Amino acid sequence: MSVLLALATAAVAVPIIDVHHHAIYPGMNADDSFDRVMENLDRRPVSRAVIEVKDYDQIDRWLEDERFIIGVPVGCGRNAAEPIYECFPEDEGWPDIGWLEEQIASGRVQALHEMPPFYSGWQIGNPRYDPYLALAHRYDIPVGIHIGKGPPVFAHEPGMHLNYDPAAGNPATLRPVLEKYPGLRVWLQHVGAGVGMEGIEPYTQETMALLADYPNVYVDLSVTNATHPLEVYSDELRRLFDAGFGDRVMFGTDNYFSDEIIARMDQIAWLTDDQKRAILHDNAARFLRLED
Ligand SMILES: [Zn+2]
Repeated sequence: MSVLLALATAAVAVPIIDVHHHAIYPGMNADDSFDRVMENLDRRPVSRAVIEVKDYDQIDRWLEDERFIIGVPVGCGRNAAEPIYECFPEDEGWPDIGWLEEQIASGRVQALHEMPPFYSGWQIGNPRYDPYLALAHRYDIPVGIHIGKGPPVFAHEPGMHLNYDPAAGNPATLRPVLEKYPGLRVWLQHVGAGVGMEGIEPYTQETMALLADYPNVYVDLSVTNATHPLEVYSDELRRLFDAGFGDRVMFGTDNYFSDEIIARMDQIAWLTDDQKRAILHDNAARFLRLED
């Protein structure tokens, strides 16, 4: 039903795939967040969404809806405002590796998302990440990594994230991992975020270099697509398409409203219907290996 509805209502007639969603909205409890996510998916509608679930006991409720692809974050840090670990707090941000392998092997967990190295201060090449990345490589599941140096409201305020390390948001830190695990499917999240903003480093050169060197690296432009000036969003897309990476740009909302983001995309006059179709569906379908 949702697929048919998407075909009938989308300006570009494809089922929409959102590669960047979270089970919990900041400041909201699990039940209210669940309702909000459902509302967001229905606004456009979205036919599949990769959703970050960060507690052992919360996975079942999301699996009941076949639209969701469960992603689990690894290596979460602590926020000074509420200094508990922001995922799997009973294991200090590192989900039990045996449990995770069972979840992946059974198909319940299908991605690692959203890896937060710069919030936690654990660079992605840190040996502590290695067993998890090895698991992702062995089972060939994709890994979503928060890159860049923001957002300022959470990260730049002194002490807001206790181990905040902006250098850990540099995509160049992924190179040893991509060499060690050839073909590991990685997507860089929030590409373009912070462009034009004082004091924020979006690591544009490092992002483009990584895309050039590793065809298994894709991107989402979440936050950039929702909150940045339209010309910044447009310029970031243009940079990626002009460099030949238009087949690796995926649609992600980061829980901003899907219909509003797509309305902004539709204002970018140079984007063709084929390019929009690639962003909204084709690239993610290929990256996530979805059949339909
Ligand atoms: Zn996110």
